Amino acid sequence: MFQNTMIVDHQGRQFKSLRVSITAACNYACTYCVPNGKKLVAAQNELTTDQLVRAVRLLISTVGIEKLRITGGEPLISPKFDSFLQGVSTLGLQDISITTNAQFLEKKAKVILDSGIRRINVSLDTLNPLAFSKIARSGDLKTVLSGIDSMLDAGITVKINMVPLRSSNKDQILDMLQYCLDRNIELRFIELMNMGHLQHSNIYHSEFIGQKEILDIIGANYEFARTGSAFDSTSVRYRVLSNNLVSGPEKGIKNETGLGAFGIIANESEPFCRTCTRLRLSSNGYLYGCLSNSRRHGIHHLLEMEDNQAISQLQAVLSSALKDKQDRQFVGEYTVMKFIGG
Ligand code: SAM
Repeated sequence: MFQNTMIVDHQGRQFKSLRVSITAACNYACTYCVPNGKKLVAAQNELTTDQLVRAVRLLISTVGIEKLRITGGEPLISPKFDSFLQGVSTLGLQDISITTNAQFLEKKAKVILDSGIRRINVSLDTLNPLAFSKIARSGDLKTVLSGIDSMLDAGITVKINMVPLRSSNKDQILDMLQYCLDRNIELRFIELMNMGHLQHSNIYHSEFIGQKEILDIIGANYEFARTGSAFDSTSVRYRVLSNNLVSGPEKGIKNETGLGAFGIIANESEPFCRTCTRLRLSSNGYLYGCLSNSRRHGIHHLLEMEDNQAISQLQAVLSSALKDKQDRQFVGEYTVMKFIGG
């Protein structure tokens, strides 16, 4: 058995958490992700399922990756999804989760539940069907909501990610929070990231809504308090203590548990690069050490080698990829999320 090596940078950061984009193709064309409304297609020369699973196994052996998130593009539309999930489920990872837009969640429920997965993240920006079509430019909100219900009914922990945008879903912040509190779902607001086409216009600046503004909006209806989050978590977490709009005994439970929790992935307002443990593998075989750095490291050739040789070369690749991390904060990036999966 190969002993995995400690690859650590000057800030004590290591790669522990891997995100694999199994395809760049997506059934949505979200305004902040793609510029022209054209749905994303698969990248050229995407890795096969066997290559993707082997890459994950080698990365576990090389640096002791503990957590895996399956992403895309949209992972649930990939023909590789079922076999990739089955393949990585046998690798002894501490945690496997999926990030999806949930359009095909009900259809994939059996394979997800059979794999033993206990939690998923759903990207959902609004509960308003019109705003939904305006942002996602495809899909059907009702199908998404029943997909979420199917996971909750099966006892899966669901988190929802929402990107608040000034022109299209700012008015949904409270509705989304209440929807999530009612279902014991943790809602996470992602501050818009200045990536891809957003860098070419003033869209980013006009659409961006930061942590303070989100908290002000929530504070009008709810009492909340900051609470702890995991060391390498990207989100600042808050516990909702009570609902100010409800009077009498139903007002809320003012104890440690409260009404539930929400988080803010505050890339701009409260950067988290200092504790980042994330490594990303794109569907076409490139490792990215940082979401805010387009430097990428091809590993196709390593997947043809014997384990020992591949692992020793991966050590050098990963040492180099770790240097790609920003010291403090996300600084914008031309790379599009579709390639590296968010
Ligand atoms: N299709 C899957 C999904 O919808 O979850 C996985 C891929 S998607 C690119 C991953 C996440 O990235 C989504 O939650 C999406 O909202 C987020 N995202 C994409 N572009 C973004 C940007 N410029 N700023 C913030 N979040 C972004």
